[in-house]
Amino acid sequence: MRRKLAAGNWKMNGTRDALAELTILADMIGEGAQDVVICPPATLIVPAVEATSGTGMRIGAQDCHSAPSGAHTGDIAAEMIADAGGTHVIVGHSERRADHGETDAMVHAKTEAAWAAGLTAILCIGESLDQREAGKTLDVIGAQLAQSVPDAATPDNLVIAYEPIWAIGTGKVATLDQIVEVHDFIRETLVKRFGGAGAAFSLLYGGSVKAANAAEIFTAENVDGALVGGASLKAADFAPIVSALAHA
Ligand code: PEP
Repeated sequence: MRRKLAAGNWKMNGTRDALAELTILADMIGEGAQDVVICPPATLIVPAVEATSGTGMRIGAQDCHSAPSGAHTGDIAAEMIADAGGTHVIVGHSERRADHGETDAMVHAKTEAAWAAGLTAILCIGESLDQREAGKTLDVIGAQLAQSVPDAATPDNLVIAYEPIWAIGTGKVATLDQIVEVHDFIRETLVKRFGGAGAAFSLLYGGSVKAANAAEIFTAENVDGALVGGASLKAADFAPIVSALAHA
């Protein structure tokens, strides 16, 4: 059985007032909290861990540096995330790749740093609209998997999120056929590389997931959950996605 996961990426949104949403969410989803990880801004990791204590919900970060410590102004190390009570870290989000020039090699190094701190990495891959229109989607996904996923990956330390860049924050959702094609390809690639373990990695879809489309997306055999941006900010929007996953 693969582990289901509804991961919320709050991006650069939220001050302490937003923590109330976590309490509301926990009340709305009950046992579904076991399948939830919320990644707030780094400033909210500690209070978010406190606010969700005892609920089963877990807290993660949106990025980490590949080094354990040092002269990297503004960055945070994976060990700091773990020390703050975080259990997961998103690596390779397309906004990090675009805003900070992160390459697959850097994402590979960040993933290993996450593991060294005992964190589970949520590694994001996905094609641009130009790449899709040029018919290169599977080539891009294959190359990202080959170059960013380290050999020591296991279903316990790595979750892969397929996020077509053109669907993030745009309201455009990939069609079910597009999602199935890419998720089946990721699964095949992982099985070729990791054997039986490849079948056990959790694969998330991300890109404008919301209450209205989550249930259909979760019908895909190789979709084990979602990485959700905008619709994770409010409990009332995120709870139905968690519930759709629980019933998938
Ligand atoms: C994301 O931030 O990873 C994301 C998928 O955002 P949104 O759900 O807003 O498209």
